[in-house]
Amino acid sequence: MIEQEKTRETWIAEGEQAFYKTYNRFPVVFQRGQGLYLYDTEDQEYLDFYAGIAVNALGYGDPEYTEYLKAQAEKLLHVSNYFYNTPSIEAGKKLIAVSGMEKVFFTNSGTEAVEGAIKIARRYAYNKTGGENYEIIAMKNSFHGRSTGALAVTGNDHYRDPFQPLMPGIRFAEFNDLGSVKALFSEKTCGVILETVQGEGGIYPATREFLEGIRSLCDQYDALMILDEIQCGMGRTGEMFAWQHYGAKPDVMTVAKALGNGVPVGAFLARGKAASAMVPGDHGTTYGGNPFVCAAASKVLDIFQSRKLTAHVKEMGEYLWQRLEEAAATYKEILGHRGMGLMQGLEFSIPVGPIVSNALLEQKLVLISAGTNIIRFVPPLVIEKKDVDEMMKRLTRAIEASL
Ligand SMILES: *Cc1c(COP(=O)(O)O)cnc(C)c1O
Repeated sequence: MIEQEKTRETWIAEGEQAFYKTYNRFPVVFQRGQGLYLYDTEDQEYLDFYAGIAVNALGYGDPEYTEYLKAQAEKLLHVSNYFYNTPSIEAGKKLIAVSGMEKVFFTNSGTEAVEGAIKIARRYAYNKTGGENYEIIAMKNSFHGRSTGALAVTGNDHYRDPFQPLMPGIRFAEFNDLGSVKALFSEKTCGVILETVQGEGGIYPATREFLEGIRSLCDQYDALMILDEIQCGMGRTGEMFAWQHYGAKPDVMTVAKALGNGVPVGAFLARGKAASAMVPGDHGTTYGGNPFVCAAASKVLDIFQSRKLTAHVKEMGEYLWQRLEEAAATYKEILGHRGMGLMQGLEFSIPVGPIVSNALLEQKLVLISAGTNIIRFVPPLVIEKKDVDEMMKRLTRAIEASL
């Protein structure tokens, strides 16, 4: 007897029945991945230039990575942070080596890394003045996560308004406008948080003047500079961390997304005066830094070194830039092209929803938007020129079909 395969429609109906509805999903059910391609329940093949929101840096099914995870799954998954475990020590040492930071705390997500960073700033203020200098400067158009703390520093009213009042003491400046940051700085400021390259907000890299200016202001006021590298870090821009393109080093940094290549692991890192602001009892997590997720992070960091991935990203980033410039020259609806390395965006004069949807459903190309008018390109970091060419073919057809 042949077992009846469940149709895509049935899967989707069952999912909708089960899930708390906070997402409008595309009508595609993915079942497996290989290399740069995803396969749905009907075994249709999709080229992935989205990487699960800049997560799957190595693409799908990388043999070296997968074998390592399998071996760790057989050894040990979890023990809690009341004990040491070898993969977390290895991953921690490697992350410190590539970031030039001093201390690391592993989290389960990007949001939790941001929470930890906020707590460092608040604890630093508490140590200094009993907490009188509790203000944190954040940026408009930013994204730092969905917990109430991370939301409090996220500059997007659409996400914030239904959950007000959020944590007090947060003031919002204009990204890339140093004057607006300066105007908010005072003796009450304990930290500044920003993405080195704004991701969800539409792929806006910080200018050199802005990032280095914030560093000077933080030094002047003894405030902590917190860089959120959750999306732009882990090689995405062609350096291990985006701030390494600039002459400014953060006191606190957050990482997640590509750190585990799909296994949920994030981290916050700190150095100097920030590295000892919190003390035993101030912060904790049950799962965070467990042997399984840290084996993933450890292997990912090894692969970055052995395959020289940042150099590869620089080369592929330039090629993607060149090809997207051609598109920008062809279509008058493309107003702008921004980004660094394999984190680029095309801004359109029209909403990009129809293009993204046509790309996915008709051209079998997985893309993501950022805001209503921007298409975001955050492919796996292991792409080759031929993959960029294939993506351009499909993208062009999707644009033509939507204009
Ligand atoms: C995705 C993202 C987050 C939140 O990470 P989660 O893992 O979804 O909690 C925070 N900051 C930035 C810049 C991000 O891109």
